[in-house]
Amino acid sequence: MGSHERCEDAIGGWRWPEGFVCPRCQGSWHSELRRQDRLYFQCGACRYLCSVLSGTIFESSKLALPEWFLAMHLMTQAKNNISALELKRHLDVSYPTAWLVKHKLMEVMFVREENRQLTGRIEADDAYLGGERPGGKRGRGSENKVAFVAAAQTTESGQAVFMCLSRRPFTKKSIQEFAENSLAAPATLVTDGLGCFTAARGTGIQHEQYVTGGGLASAKHPSFLAVNSALGNLKTALAGTHHAFAFEKYGHRYLGQVQYLFNRRFDLRSILERLARAACQATPSPLHAIRAAELPC
Ligand SMILES: [Zn+2]
Repeated sequence: MGSHERCEDAIGGWRWPEGFVCPRCQGSWHSELRRQDRLYFQCGACRYLCSVLSGTIFESSKLALPEWFLAMHLMTQAKNNISALELKRHLDVSYPTAWLVKHKLMEVMFVREENRQLTGRIEADDAYLGGERPGGKRGRGSENKVAFVAAAQTTESGQAVFMCLSRRPFTKKSIQEFAENSLAAPATLVTDGLGCFTAARGTGIQHEQYVTGGGLASAKHPSFLAVNSALGNLKTALAGTHHAFAFEKYGHRYLGQVQYLFNRRFDLRSILERLARAACQATPSPLHAIRAAELPC
C-alpha cells in the first residue's frame, strides 16, 4: 500500500469511525471504487459520489496527502511556530502553497478553540500583537497593533491550566462579550486596574482588581504570573513573525494556533491525530476565504 493510500485510510477512519456515512443523506449503504488511484464512495441510497477527502480541508489541494501529514506534524510538534518559508522548504512546494497550507491548518485550530470557556480563577490582561514586543503591554505605540485579551485559567496555587487569547478592542461592550462567551461561572476574573474589565461584573462573573501601575510592575505582580507566563509563551511561539500586516489581517489565526497548542501541551502524542480529525470535519476553505486579499510577504 502506498503512502497516499495509508493517509486515505487514516482519514477514512477518523472521519467515519463507524464506517461510511453519506454526507448528503446520512445513509451508510455504499459501494467503493478506485479511479486513478483515488478511492471513491458511492451512496447506495442517493447515489452521491464522494472521496474520503470531499468536504475536508484536504479536498482539491495541490498538496499530496503525505505532505499534508508532514505539515500537520511540523505545525504541532515544533516548539516555535513554523514559518511558511520553513514549511515551504520542508514540503518542497511553492511559497503560496506552503502559506495556504499553514493558514488552513491555523484556521482549523482557531475554529476548534473558538468556543473555549475558562472557569474558576482566571487572570486576564490586555496585550498586543505586532511591533517588536509581541504580547507587550498597552502604551508604547500600541495604536498600530492588534489588541487582544490574554486570559489564563489557573489552579488555586496560580499555575496556568488553559488559556484564551481573544482578539478584540478594550471597550466595556467588548469585555462584556468576552465574559459572556469565554468565561463560565463560577469564575473570578483577576485583572489590573484597566477600567473596561469591570464590565465582566454584570455577567455573573466575580471580578478582583489589583491596581499595579501597569507595565513591568504588573508583569511581576504575583496575581498575574500565569497570564504573563502565557504571554511569554506566545512571544516565543511568534518569534520571527513580525509582520504587522499579517497580524492585522490574520491575527485571530496566529492567536488561535498558540492557544490550541498551549491548551494541548500535555498531550503531544495525540495532538497530531486530534488536529487531523478536526481537519477532516472542517469544511474546505477555498483560497479566497483563507486569503482575504493579497499574500503577505
Ligand atoms: Zn446518500
